[in-house]
Amino acid sequence: ALVYAMRLTGLLQWTVRVVIETENNMTAVERLSALGDIDSEAARSTDLDGKIDKAWPSAGNIQIKNLMLRYRPELPLVLHGVDISIPAGSKWGVCGRTGSGKSTLMLALVRIVEPELGSTIEIDGVDTSKLGLYRLRSGMTIIPQDPVMFCGTIRYNLDPFDQYTDEMLWETLERAQLKEEVLNNFPEKLNHILNERGDNISVGQRQLLCIARALLRRSKVVLLDEATASVDTDTDQKIQKITRAECENVTVLTSAPRLET
Ligand code: ATP
Ligand code: MG
Repeated sequence: ALVYAMRLTGLLQWTVRVVIETENNMTAVERLSALGDIDSEAARSTDLDGKIDKAWPSAGNIQIKNLMLRYRPELPLVLHGVDISIPAGSKWGVCGRTGSGKSTLMLALVRIVEPELGSTIEIDGVDTSKLGLYRLRSGMTIIPQDPVMFCGTIRYNLDPFDQYTDEMLWETLERAQLKEEVLNNFPEKLNHILNERGDNISVGQRQLLCIARALLRRSKVVLLDEATASVDTDTDQKIQKITRAECENVTVLTSAPRLET
C-alpha cells in the first residue's frame, strides 16, 4: 500500500499535465471551427472579367445609383440610397462629420462591404457587383484611413509585386515628399525594414508611403480616405499640388473632415 501511495502522487501530476495540454491543443480546433463558420467573400474571378477591356477602367466614369449599405444584416442602414454621377477625370470631395459614412462609401466602391440588393455601382459602364474581386480591386487604388503597411522593406511596401525599377521608386518617393526622409533617416535606404503595421515610422510617413504606392500604380480611379489627416499642413499642401498635377485625367475621390482639403 505504501509503495502504491507513493506512486499515486506522481501519477496524479502527470494526469493533470495531460489534461491541460489537451485543453490547450483543443484551442486550435475551436479556432478552426469558428473560422469555418465565417461567410467567405464574393468570387475572386467571374466570367465577366475576361469579357471586359483589359485596360478597364480606362476613363474613370463612376455612376452610383441608390446605394444602400449595412455592415451586418441586423444593423441599420449606414448609407440610405446614395445617387452620384461622377464624370471621368473629375476631382470630388466627400465631406461630412465623423461617422457620416465617408469611409463606408469608399469601402462600397471596392466591395470590402457588399452593398444591399438594388444598389448599382457602374464604373465605365461595367457593373462592379458582377466582376470578380481581383479584377475590380486591381483596377482602382484606395488609400485607406489607417495606412496599411506590410512587414518587409520599403521597396516591398511600395512595389509588392516587383514591377518597377529602383529609379521609378525613387522618383515616386520624391513626388510624395519622402525622398529626403528615406535618404537621411534610413541607412539601408529602400531596404529599410518596416515592422509589422509599420510602427517604426510615424503615421504621417505611413500615409505618405501609401500615397507613393498609389502614385506608382497610375490607376484611373483613386480613392483617398483622409489620406493626409496626419501630416502637417505644409506637406498637405504639397501633396495636394502633386495630386492635382499627377492626376490630371484620373478620377479622384477624396474624403476629408476639413473643407480646405
Ligand atoms: P470618420 O470621419 O470618423 O472617418 P466616416 O464618415 O468615415 O467617419 P464611417 O466609418 O463610414 O464614418 O462610419 C459610418 C457609420 O457606419 C458609423 O455610424 C458607424 O457606426 C458605422 N460603422 C462603421 N464601421 C462599422 C463596422 N465595421 N461595423 C458596424 N458598423 C460600422
Ligand atoms: Mg472615415
